[in-house]
Parts: sequence; C-alpha cells; structure tokens
Amino acid sequence: MNRTELTAKLEQALKKKISACTTEEIYTGLLSITQEMAKERHTDTGKKKLYYISAEFLIGKLLSNNLINLGLYDDVKAILADNGIALSAVEEVEPEPSLGNGGLGRLAACFLDSIATLNLNGDGVGLNYHFGLFKQLFRDNKQEEIPNPWIGDTSWLTKTDVTYKVPYKGFTLTSRMYDIEVTGYHGRTNRLHLFDVETVDETLVEDGISFDKTDIEKNLTLFLYPDDSDDDGRLLRIYQQYFMVSNAARLILDEALAKGSTLYDLPDYAVIQINDTHPTMVIPELIRLLTTEHGMEMDDAIDVVSRTCAYTNHTILAEALEKWPMAFFKKAVPQLIPIMEVLDDKVRRKYDDPSTYIIDKNDTVHMAHMDIHYGFSVNGVAALHTDILKETELSNFYKLYPEKFNNKTNGITFRRWLLHCNPELAAFITGLIGDEYKKDAMALENLNSDKIIKNMKTLHSLLAIKEAKKRELAAYLKETQGLEINPDSIFDIQIKRLHEYKRQQMNALYLIHKYLEIKKGKKPITPITAIFGAKAAPAYVIAKDIIHMILCLQQIIEEDEDVRPWLKVVMVSNYNVTLAEKLIPACDISEQISLASKEASGTGNMKFMLNGAITLGTDDGANVEIHELVGDDNIYIFGDSSETVIKRYADKSYVSKKYYDSNPAIKEAVDFITGPEMLAVGSKENLERLSKELLTKDWFMTFPDFDAYCKAKEQAYEDYENRTGWARKMLINISKAGFFSSDRTIAEYDRDIWKLS
Ligand SMILES: *Cc1c(COP(=O)(O)O)cnc(C)c1O
Repeated sequence: MNRTELTAKLEQALKKKISACTTEEIYTGLLSITQEMAKERHTDTGKKKLYYISAEFLIGKLLSNNLINLGLYDDVKAILADNGIALSAVEEVEPEPSLGNGGLGRLAACFLDSIATLNLNGDGVGLNYHFGLFKQLFRDNKQEEIPNPWIGDTSWLTKTDVTYKVPYKGFTLTSRMYDIEVTGYHGRTNRLHLFDVETVDETLVEDGISFDKTDIEKNLTLFLYPDDSDDDGRLLRIYQQYFMVSNAARLILDEALAKGSTLYDLPDYAVIQINDTHPTMVIPELIRLLTTEHGMEMDDAIDVVSRTCAYTNHTILAEALEKWPMAFFKKAVPQLIPIMEVLDDKVRRKYDDPSTYIIDKNDTVHMAHMDIHYGFSVNGVAALHTDILKETELSNFYKLYPEKFNNKTNGITFRRWLLHCNPELAAFITGLIGDEYKKDAMALENLNSDKIIKNMKTLHSLLAIKEAKKRELAAYLKETQGLEINPDSIFDIQIKRLHEYKRQQMNALYLIHKYLEIKKGKKPITPITAIFGAKAAPAYVIAKDIIHMILCLQQIIEEDEDVRPWLKVVMVSNYNVTLAEKLIPACDISEQISLASKEASGTGNMKFMLNGAITLGTDDGANVEIHELVGDDNIYIFGDSSETVIKRYADKSYVSKKYYDSNPAIKEAVDFITGPEMLAVGSKENLERLSKELLTKDWFMTFPDFDAYCKAKEQAYEDYENRTGWARKMLINISKAGFFSSDRTIAEYDRDIWKLS
C-alpha cells in the first residue's frame, strides 16, 4: 500500500481529515486499520501448531510495534507529520497492558514476535487480567499499589465466539476467548488467546488492590499473581491456573480434531510449551479430557500427552518452584487428583528416588516434577543456568532423563528493543553496514571491523546518539514523573523486578558509600545519576523495605546541596515496558549484579547491550555469554563465581555479621540505613527491619561482593572519561548482540523441540 492509499484508508477510518483529529481519534483509527491489516496476514497453515502457554505476556504497547512489523511505520509517521501530528504523541494515548510481572512475561512476548517473524504456526495462550499486575505509586517514600486497568473501549482485544465450560468443585464457569493479533516482522500473523470469564466484576476491588479472594466467579481474572500470603490467595492462583489450562487443553484438542487428528496422533498436530510451572496442570487436564471425553485408555493418554508437552524452567530459587498442598486441589479441582495419583504412582514404580516423586510424603504436589516426568523436553534459559540445573538443582532428574535436558539461551526481539526504541541507533547501524541485520541479527558482527571501530568520526556519532537519547529520557521523566536528571551525567541504571537476589540493596549500599565519600570531598569527575525502576510483589516485605531505602536515599541526596550536583538517585515509578523503552537507549552502565547462580538468564542485560550500554555485572545467567562474546575489556565483571556461591550455601559457612565487623565501608553504609539522616525521612520499622535482615541473614550475600562491586564501578566511571575508548566498547557490545536476538532462540526451539518447519 502506498502513502496515498494509506492516507485514504486512514481518513476513511477516521471519517474526517487527519489534521482535524485529536491524538485519541488518530490512535483509534490507526488501531482499527492496523488490526484489519494484521488479520489479513493470519493463516493457520501447517499441520502442527505450537501452543505457548504462559501466565504472563508482558507485551507492551502494540501500535508502533505492529506498524513496524507490517511495514507501515515510516509512512504513518510521515503522513501524521504532514498533518502536524507526532506519532510519539499518539503512542502516548495507548495504555500498556500490564499482563506480566517481569522477564518471564517479556520473554513470552518477544517469543511471540519471533515465532510470527519466522513464519511458524504458533499461538500464545494466557489469561485476560483486567487490572494486570498492579500500578505502582510512591507515597511517603513507600510503594503503594492500585489497579492498572488497560481494557478501554478501544483495545487490541477481539472477542471471539469460542467459549468453554470449566468445571470446579461445586460450580462451573463459562469462559470466553479474546484474541490479540501478533504480527511478525514482514511475516505472518499469529494470535495471543486470552481467556476470561464473563462474570468478572471490577467493582469487587476496593482500597488499593484488595478484594474478596473467595468470590471466584467475580474475581478470577482481575489480577495477575493475586497476593498468595494466605490460603485464599493461594487457592485463587489454583483456580486461575486451572482456568488457563483447561481452556487451553480444549482449544488444542478442538483444533487438532478439526484438522483430522485421531488424538492418538496429537503430537503430530500440537506441541505445548509450558512456560514455567504455572501451566503444569495442562498435563493432567489433557489426560482427563482424553480419557473421559474421548474414550482413550489412561496409558495411551499419558503417552500422547508426554509426547506433546515441553517444559521451560526459569529459576533455581527453590521457593519459586511451585508446590501445592493436595488439600488445595481437593477444594478446587478434585477431578485432577486421581490422574495426578496415577502419574505419581508410575514414577514410584519406576524410580526409587523420593526426591523425584510428584506427590511427596507431606501430600504436597511438586509441579516441576510433573513437567519433567511427563514432558519430552526440559530446557533452561542460559548456558550457566542449564548447567546448574543438570549438575545441582535438578541433578536427580538429569540422571533419569539426560536426553530431555537442553539449553535455549533467551533472546529479545530487535524490532522492539532496537528498531522501535532507538531508531537513531538503527539508522546509524544501517549507515555503516546496511540493513541486513534487521532480518539476520548476526550481521551486526560487521560493525566489528577496524575500519569502523577505529574511525573517530563514527565513534563520535555514536556518542552523539547516546547523548540525544539521554536528553530525550530526561525530558520524558520530567514531563511524566516530575523527575529532573542531568543529561550530562553518567546514567547508571538498574531496572528489573525488586528481588533480594537481584541485589538492588547492594547498589543502594554503594550509593550510600558514594554519598558519604562525596561528603568527605571526593567528588567524581563526571556527575553520576543512578536510576532504579522496580516493582515489589505486594506481600514481599523486604523488597518493599529496599524500595523504601532507595526512596529515602533519593530524598536525602536531593536535599543535600553539597552532594546534589555530583550524585543523584532516582527511582522511577511503575517500571514497565514503556519506561524500559525510554531508559535502555539512554543508559551508559547496565547494572546486572545478581548473586552468581541465581539469575537464570536475564534479558534486560541483552537489551542494554544492544543499545550500547556497558554491563557491570556478575558472571551469572546470560552475563556469562555476554562476557564470552565481548571479552574482558568490554564488560565489568566482578564478584564471587557461581561455584563459590553454591559451595558457600552448601556448607552454610556464610555469616554476614563477620563482613560487617571487619569491613569499615560496609559497616558505615549499613549503619547509615538506620542513622539519623534516614530516620528523618523514612520509617523506623522498615529501615530497622532491612538493616537487621542484612546483619543477621543477607541470604543473597551482598557483603562478600561489596568491595569488588565498588571497585568495578569506580573502574567503569574512570573508563567513561575516555570518551572514544568508551564508544569503542559500546560499538563492540552492539556488534556482538546478534546472538541474543529471539529469532535465534526461537529457531533453536523449533529445531530441537517444536519441529514445526
Ligand atoms: C526486559 C524486562 C524485564 C526483565 O529484566 P531483567 O533485568 O532481565 O530481570 C523486566 N521488566 C520489563 C518491563 C522488561 O522490559
């Protein structure tokens, strides 16, 4: 479609002249024509189809992404500009669907993009949470949560006529499927199926995000991850998970039957990727449907399902591997119990290692165990993570099924994380090496030639782009959050879920240390802006205390005239994909400082690298692979290795107090948390609890790495002063980022697991 035709189409949708429309009207008009054009590319070709089932899909805003993928972005931008309208202003109108929590959900979104881009037949299946995770506000230096409604009169959801009956103990819910079109980059359109209940009642929510957790009919799809600190909340999660997979199972069987499957040959028609343990009940549910509604023998059904399901593990944090008391299943979905008992019984007959049983001696059901025994593939999400699964966390399973284990290092879609969020950098790259990299990310390697990385003019151009993105971010934060940052400072950024293992507390301790150093007169050469963005799970007390500490520190420094010009700490509120798209292109230093062995992969690290930020990190998750690719000179790696950490856990030898007593810098920083400056702006209860946690537990070992962290950070700040030297590091990082395209990841999933093409 040429520009004239597109203009005509848009005016037809708008029913008036473009220049006479509000940005809201333009958004609605663009949404409808984009949706229509996306649907035109939908096909269901190919006998076999992938179903990617996930509790989260952190898809971000869709308009610009779809315009890019449909090849309309430049034309639409130009048409709007001709009428005095900025596409970026139209983007602001779109609410971001908050259907995810963090990396796992964002990964699912990047995967859908790549699946469609590679022209694979694969749909996502999840739930249509009306209020998403939650919207984060700060008040009195603390996190508050409110609902995050995103489904307005116009949204990307298309109501379908697919509905199912989902049986629970004592009642049945009727579902309805909604679809979101998933466009591939110059590729086909697939779908994200989101199931919902028609009886959901948004008025149930009162006072923040609290609601009656027992009224399942009305609350089922209100929130992602409802508070599970009590039994009602935990039960609600089971109700949600079952709803997701029961609908998925029926959809999968219906679609296979419609294509002529006998269901005995289901693995020829369907492959199910179980994203983390939340969709695990799809295994017993499919077996239940095959045996009770399709007349299959139990053994045949188990065999068919086992050859259809594949499981992705995302964590080695024991507390994050779901386990549910049998009593919960009895209350909510008793129909699954006899099947899970058969599955467990088969395991017990075959293997004598109780650590691999599905139902343990306390009558607790281990969801991951079900996935591993009754799926044909188990994958980790980065090389180190998969190794740790094999050697440590899941070693008992690896002994049973070495052939099932495989690694799929995560990736990100370069459409969103380069073309859309950093068009200036994309154009710069195209100017140097052409645009082959847009289809084949490995072509970025062509940037790594002497002719390019030794060209001073090129290096200065790259620095100028970074500077422009920093100015853009500063303006955006001023406008949207009232935050003022100095674009001439170093942007040192840590944005990710708030969790102790990610060690935002270690970064904050450094900043306290730095604050005290500056007060003593040791000023940095270039001022530093430390930026945080993170949501804490509403019931995760220490995580909220860490946010409190950071916000208090932000206030103290802001009010300190001596330090303010040299150091600034800001925490952006409601960190989400939209903010990530603004923060990442503006970043100089990417904080990836998880305790080695604990971050399965990370994908934020990849987005930053692609946008020319230099990683300051531990040898953990995909940082290991980034390190290998860019070499020692283009990354700042510090801290104890995963082996050391794993050993230290095993021999229980870590005592945080010893570090506190013997390291004056640690003592000074920790004491500051409960010192008079902090207590003047913060809450005693929160700050003392956090300090006590560090002194008596520090489960994620911030103290042993503290000195090495400070040193690595100072080195990075020093190296930053050599501007062209730094630009060369940036360019080498960009040139090596191709490996982390989710197109590569998805091609590997397809080659080794799904076998769709
Ligand atoms: C990429 C991304 C994440 C994951 O970040 P990690 O640093 O890998 O934990 C989380 N949230 C959002 C909004 C993201 O875009």
